[in-house]
Amino acid sequence: MLNAMSIDVEDWFHVYNMSGVVPQSQWEKCESRVERNTTQLLELFAKRGVKATFFTLGWVAERFPALVRAMDEAGHEIATHSHMHRLITHMTPEEFEADLARSLAVLRPLSSRPILGFRAPSFSVTKKTLWATDTMKRLGLEYDSSVFPIGFHPDYGIGDAPLGAYTHPSGLTELPMSVANVMGRRVPCSGGGYFRLLPYVVTRSLIRRCNSESRPVVFYLHPWEIDPGQPRVQLPASKAFRHYNNLDRTLGRLDRLLKDFEFGTVTDVLAASSRATTLTGGQ
Ligand SMILES: [Zn+2]
Repeated sequence: MLNAMSIDVEDWFHVYNMSGVVPQSQWEKCESRVERNTTQLLELFAKRGVKATFFTLGWVAERFPALVRAMDEAGHEIATHSHMHRLITHMTPEEFEADLARSLAVLRPLSSRPILGFRAPSFSVTKKTLWATDTMKRLGLEYDSSVFPIGFHPDYGIGDAPLGAYTHPSGLTELPMSVANVMGRRVPCSGGGYFRLLPYVVTRSLIRRCNSESRPVVFYLHPWEIDPGQPRVQLPASKAFRHYNNLDRTLGRLDRLLKDFEFGTVTDVLAASSRATTLTGGQ
């Protein structure tokens, strides 16, 4: 079964966890590691013959256009991760539209194919921000991959969202982040911190469980998650653990994952998936 491999292309200092320590005004002064780390991921994908979707921050594309062209020339899908990495839950509809339009204006000239997809910073498409899916459609996007169908996280998630691809009222397709059904509970297995912090075999068994229910998984990782050499800043203990633990193991783990499962772009997975249900408004 074809699963979706995706990378949220941002630097270590863009992470929401860092916003209290590295404000936006300091970004330009930080040591950028995104080009180096993303290039390493491109090399691994080339070695394993995998095509991925790169949800790229407009801010990054503005500074590293050659990196975006390299992704495109290698046959990967370019999509948007917003321009300034602001959470939709922190923006007005007008601010969101301006930020999304700005990212598209930077990314479109760098991609040989249309930009079709969006991934929200910190999965901030929630019940309160479903209006954003109308904006995405209006600006020419075809899909969103931001909804986390879980109800237990304090900052994001739609607890009763479908687990597979579905269609928003605007006609925009949603490919939600992946959870496995384990004894009636929804357990995330989409990658990121869950992949880095838990033993590899946990992720493998949860993905197998999804695939055995004929459900492809959407996997994601950030370039900084494979970079033990990134600058270290002082964070509260729990945030430091979440950001810095197992950075030295993640690239090897990703390689193992690429050997254990079949991966393609989000667009490839959506094309392969014929199962779609409609999300009714306000639910
Ligand atoms: Zn992000």
